[in-house]
Amino acid sequence: MATTAYPMQTTPRIDPLDPPHRLLMAPGPTNVDPRVLAAMSKPTVGQFDPYMFKAMDEVQTMLRSIFKTNNTQTMVVDGTSRSAIEAAFVSTIAPGDPVLVCCAGRFGMLLKEIAERCDAEVHVIERPWGEVFPLEQIEQAIIEVKPKLVATVQGDTSTTMCQPLEGLGDICHKYGALLYTDATASMVGNDLRVDEWGIDIATTGMQKCFGGPSGMAPITVSDRAVDVMEQRKSIEAGVADGAQEITTNRIRSNYFDLPQIFDYWGPRHLNHHTEATHMLYAMHEAARIIVEEGIDNVIARHRLNGMAMSAAIEGMGLKLYGDQSHRMNDVIGVVIPNGVDDAAIRAQLLNDFSVEIASSFGPLKGTIWRIGVMGCNARKDAVLTCAAALGNVLERNGVAVTPGKGIEAALAVYEAFESGN
Ligand SMILES: *Cc1c(COP(=O)(O)O)cnc(C)c1O
Repeated sequence: MATTAYPMQTTPRIDPLDPPHRLLMAPGPTNVDPRVLAAMSKPTVGQFDPYMFKAMDEVQTMLRSIFKTNNTQTMVVDGTSRSAIEAAFVSTIAPGDPVLVCCAGRFGMLLKEIAERCDAEVHVIERPWGEVFPLEQIEQAIIEVKPKLVATVQGDTSTTMCQPLEGLGDICHKYGALLYTDATASMVGNDLRVDEWGIDIATTGMQKCFGGPSGMAPITVSDRAVDVMEQRKSIEAGVADGAQEITTNRIRSNYFDLPQIFDYWGPRHLNHHTEATHMLYAMHEAARIIVEEGIDNVIARHRLNGMAMSAAIEGMGLKLYGDQSHRMNDVIGVVIPNGVDDAAIRAQLLNDFSVEIASSFGPLKGTIWRIGVMGCNARKDAVLTCAAALGNVLERNGVAVTPGKGIEAALAVYEAFESGN
C-alpha cells in the first residue's frame, strides 16, 4: 500500500514569521499600539477565572464611556467588525421584518446584503457615493416603509464621508423603528454619542481608530433593542436552567445570538463561546489608552492629524475628494491625477518606503486614494512621513506635484494648533 507524503514531510523547514515593518496609512488595519501588543503576551487564564470576569467587567465599563452610553449591554463580539454587524442584525431581525438601509457606499451595500441574508424585507435608499443623507430623506422613507430597523453607516470608509446622526434616533423612535449604525471606521476618530443621539445599536471594530488588532468587535445595545431581541431568546439546551428557557422561535444563529452573549457577559456568566482571552487583553489595553487620553481628546487628535494630512495633500498640488465638511476626521480621500497608475504608485510606496495607503471600491476604484490617520498613527511624524513619501513617489513618476509645499502646509497646521490659533 502506498503511503501518502503530507506536505510537512516534503517541506521540513518553515522559517519563523518575520513580517516587514510597515507604516499602515490605509483606512484599516492600522499599526497596533505597542502597549496593546504587549498586553496580548500576558498569561492565559481560564474562561471562568475570576480574573477573566474582572477583565471583562473593566472592558464593559471602559467601552460604555467610549460609546458615550449607559447601556448595560455593552461588550464585544469575537470576530472582525462585521461579526458585530451580523450579530446585531440576526438578533434584531426576524424573517420578513421590514428593514430600511441607507446606502451611499460599499459599507451601506454590506448592510443591505447582511439584512437580505437575515431574510428581512429590505428597502434601500441611496445617495451617490461621496454624499451623506439629509435626515428628511431618511424620515420620508421611514414613513413609507415603517421599518423595524433603520440601518446606517456613520463613516462609510469607501467614500470617506461621515453621516450626521444627531436627531435621527428621535425620528426613528417616533415611528417605532430602532436605529443601527456601523461606526467601525469612524468611532474614536469622530464624535459618536450613542445615548444623546438615540442610537439603539452601534458596532465597531478594533483595527481602526481603536489601534488594536483586527478580530474583536465592540457593540452596544439599548434597552429598547434588548427587549426586541429577547422576544426570541432561547438558551442552549446544555446550559439552560430548565425547559422553560428553551423556545422554538429562536434567533437564527447560535454564535451571533446576542441575548446568549449578554448572559455570558452578565452576572449569570452563562457559558456560550470561549471568550477570546488574548484579544480581550488587547481590547482592555486599547480601551485603557483611549480612556487615559480622554475620548474627546482622542477625537480631537484624529481631527488635527486628518487636517494636517489634507493640508499636505492640497499643499503638494493634489485635489481632495468629496465634501470636506462631511469628511471623516480620520480618512482622507485624494483624487488620483489623470493618467497616474494607481497600483504602480502604491506598490512603490510600499516597496521603497514601507508605507501603505489604499485605493477604493466600486465607482471610486482607481479614482481616489484613501489615507487613514487612525489610532496611534494619528500623530505628526506618521502624517509627515506618509505625505513626504507619497510626494516623492509621485514626483519620481513625473506627476507635477510640490512635495515640499505639502510638508510646509502640514507643519503650518500643527504650528497653528500649538500656538492655539
Ligand atoms: C473596515 C470596515 C468594516 C470592516 O469589517 P471587518 O469585518 O473588520 O473587515 C465594516 N464597516 C466599515 C464602515 C468599515 O470601515
